[in-house]
Parts: sequence; C-alpha cells; structure tokens
Amino acid sequence: MNKNIVWHEATVTRERREKMNRHRAKLLWFTGLSGSGKSTLAHALEEELHQRECRTYVFDGDNVRHGLCRDLGFSTEDRSENIRRIGEMAKLFVDAGVIALTAFISPIREDRERARGLFPHGDFIEVYVSCPLEVCETRDVKGLYKKARSGEIPNFTGISAPYDVPDKPEIVIETQDRTVQECVHELIEALEQRGVIPTKVV
Ligand code: ADP
Repeated sequence: MNKNIVWHEATVTRERREKMNRHRAKLLWFTGLSGSGKSTLAHALEEELHQRECRTYVFDGDNVRHGLCRDLGFSTEDRSENIRRIGEMAKLFVDAGVIALTAFISPIREDRERARGLFPHGDFIEVYVSCPLEVCETRDVKGLYKKARSGEIPNFTGISAPYDVPDKPEIVIETQDRTVQECVHELIEALEQRGVIPTKVV
C-alpha cells in the first residue's frame, strides 16, 4: 500500500456510536445453499431489529452484484474477490455502529475465514442457514436449480460446485419445516444472549 495513505483517526469512534445507538455493532454473516433462506431471514431479522430501533443494513447477493461487484462472475477467483469486497465493506458499516447482515452463499470456507479475519474477535457472527439440498431444490425460488440441473448454469453451488459446511458457526439455524417467524425469534434470542441488543422489556 502507498506509504502516503494514512488512516485518519476519527474523534467520533465506534464506541461512541454504539453508546448512542444503545446496541452493539456486529456483522451477521449468513451462509448456506441457494434457497436455504439467507435473504428471507436477513430481511425479516432486519425488520424486527428496526422495530426495536436498531441501526441495520442488509447486503445481499443481487444488490452487491448490481453495483460494487458488477465486474465479477462466478469463477472461484471472482467469488473470492466478491467475498473479500463484501467483508471490507461490512467492516466499514460495523465501524459506523451498524448491525450489518450479509446474505451470500459464500460456499468456500477459506473465503469466509478470510472475511472473519478482518474483524476483531467476536464481531463476526457466522450464521449457518441449514437446509437440505433437496428442500432448497424443491423451493427453487428463482428457478436456478432447474437451470443448473440442465447445465444452463455452470458452477452452481450444491449441484456442480462445492459448498463447505461451516465448522464452527456461532449460530446454526434450521429452516426446513420451520416458519420464518420461528427462525427470527431464535436469532433475536441469540443476539440478546450475546449482548448485541438489549433484552426487550415487555
Ligand atoms: P437464499 O437467500 O438462501 O437463496 P431465499 O431467502 O431467497 O434463499 O429463499 C428461501 C425460500 O424459502 C423463500 O421462498 C422462503 O419463503 C422459504 N422459506 C420457507 N421456510 C423458511 C424459513 N424458515 N426461513 C427462511 N426461508 C424460508
């Protein structure tokens, strides 16, 4: 890196922002097969957090690939670069005091671990959205599995490209035979237990 580039220390720190927000800033990294429920859960959780007056932002596959990562495809190298950029961007959001939620298949363990490495210990919360391939394929939200099976889409995770199941995710959420609301409830409890958000007083 150019030695003339110096990180400017802000007087408004992350700690001050967190205090003002009355919640911690974290990155919730949703990973799982296409159709497992990452995007649905990230947005539903964001809605619940917003109602609790938390500052949040969801990054998901399509919105990032339309802009920041529009030059990238789905080769192994491009997928890694995609994940690297998302990690760096989410890091800035966490510094801004936000609960950032990312919803990407992020199939390669090494790529996820590299993103984790950008964050201080405890700030990167890996959420494994677990759902059997057959169920994801039956859901086939965007008709992608059908195209992958016919060979129209190459390198499709779960069909013609690997998915590395997380070793030690902080949170595992099963979505088969469960409602979105049940899953969101479980995620909220996990965030309360970790002291990310205050426990709701009812
Ligand atoms: P992904 O982002 O992982 O590709 P999506 O969120 O786009 O997956 O799609 C998941 C699909 O599964 C949606 O149609 C959603 O309504 C359905 N679904 C059924 N049960 C659940 C659940 N418990 N959690 C999340 N999604 C669920």
